[in-house]
Amino acid sequence: THKDGNPHICIVGSGPAGFYTAQQLLKGHPSLRVDIFERLPVPFGLVRYGVAPDHPEVKNVINTFTQTANNDRCSFLGNVQVGKDITVTELLKIYSAVVLAYGAAADKLLGIPGENLPNILPARTFVGWYNGLPEDKDLKVNLDTETAVIVGHGNVALDVARILLTPVDILAKTDISDYALEALRKSSLKRVVLVGRRGPLQVAFTIKELREMIKLPECRPVFHKEDFKDLEKIFPDLPRPRKRLTELMHKTCFGPTADDVKLWNEAKKEWELKFRLTPMEVLSSAGQLTGLRCAVNKLEGSNFENQKAVSTDEHIDLPCGLIFRSIGYRSLQIDPAIPFDKKQGVIPNEKGRVTGVPGLYCSGWVGRGPVGVILSTMTDGFDVGKVILKDLAEDHIPNLGRPGFQGAMKILEERGVKMVSFSDWKKIDEHEVQMGEKFGKPREKIADVQNMIKILTH
Ligand code: FAD
Repeated sequence: THKDGNPHICIVGSGPAGFYTAQQLLKGHPSLRVDIFERLPVPFGLVRYGVAPDHPEVKNVINTFTQTANNDRCSFLGNVQVGKDITVTELLKIYSAVVLAYGAAADKLLGIPGENLPNILPARTFVGWYNGLPEDKDLKVNLDTETAVIVGHGNVALDVARILLTPVDILAKTDISDYALEALRKSSLKRVVLVGRRGPLQVAFTIKELREMIKLPECRPVFHKEDFKDLEKIFPDLPRPRKRLTELMHKTCFGPTADDVKLWNEAKKEWELKFRLTPMEVLSSAGQLTGLRCAVNKLEGSNFENQKAVSTDEHIDLPCGLIFRSIGYRSLQIDPAIPFDKKQGVIPNEKGRVTGVPGLYCSGWVGRGPVGVILSTMTDGFDVGKVILKDLAEDHIPNLGRPGFQGAMKILEERGVKMVSFSDWKKIDEHEVQMGEKFGKPREKIADVQNMIKILTH
């Protein structure tokens, strides 16, 4: 095998963390090579499969990632599942260093009775479903019900609520998957209730997403005055983003504009914010979901940031026919050679250096936990790239004469893995955009891996 004495770095995962780390590495070293391995035949992780279809501007980062992939010293190896098709131990032998940037592909459970009933779903798989993620395309979601409850007060919860409530004709112009659009067209949903453990000062969503919900056509926000009363007294003490967010909720409750009120009075659908509730039990009748029983909480502690929700003896029942849990993502240990903190669901690391394994690094959600927007993942990716460059400069990565790409190709070809290159992806991309044009959409995603591969062999 060809060995050229240059550093060969392998990155596992082609989401923002993988691409931003690659970008930093290529920029900071003149002859270093980067190979990006991706489980799916298509790149970009949650930018393609998480970001909501009605937020196309967020996906512009794909242009930067494409520039990185077009670099002569960068290769994309799609349709390769690390941990199955090739192990981390093998990669550590073939490459000078390995960067794990494989994100968070699982979710947290509520841990309550009835959670396994039909129509109680992770927000994660619902997001995958409307975004055409192959493993979620066949999700069974029954929208023939008037009320859905979403457990969680984060941006993913608002994404799910917005997709459920947005007039379908608006969604039809996005890259939402065709089957999801059809299902939403037939939906009977009129009401989405978002339930959080703590109060309005602890919501995790951000102002842009909240404003979109407040301005949603044909839909009215239902906020309860008792939740927001007297809150204005502490506005001056709040940090700026929290202050603006709280002010907007307060204004929506107490001082909406005449235009807003007119719009809301005409609305046939609504969404409601409910606070200080912890799910206790999923209610059902004859195996059919009928509601969610929640404990009523009180908040303890003085500083709003550290306030804790403590359940009282009181409870309330929220009737509904569909429940989403949107309480956070969780990473998986994709290979036994990866040290893993099962409790936190992350890879233990020190500034991206995986604890106890020289040459192994991690970047993005898998190392930092599943929080933060693309921008914070970018900062993290750049930082990890700099750490690796520093370790290279200081000879902490002595394994330079490694076979890299060719070594990996040899193993994968022997195993009959059908790899997808970046130019292959460009063919899939072109095909999707062409299919989308027929329906006035930016693209129609191919939601089936076999069909993606088929395009390449034609
Ligand atoms: P990911 O993006 O998840 O990338 C991980 C990649 O690794 C994936 O491509 C995955 O297929 C691959 N992989 C997994 N396992 C393997 C394996 N065994 N072998 C090889 N490859 C593997 N941020 C914003 O700024 N704006 C938004 O509007 C926004 N919306 C969001 C909506 C949702 C529903 C979610 C969940 C997040 C959203 N974010 C948004 C946050 C943003 O998506 C994350 O910050 C970012 O994607 C994290 O990047 P990552 O590379 O760590 O993980």
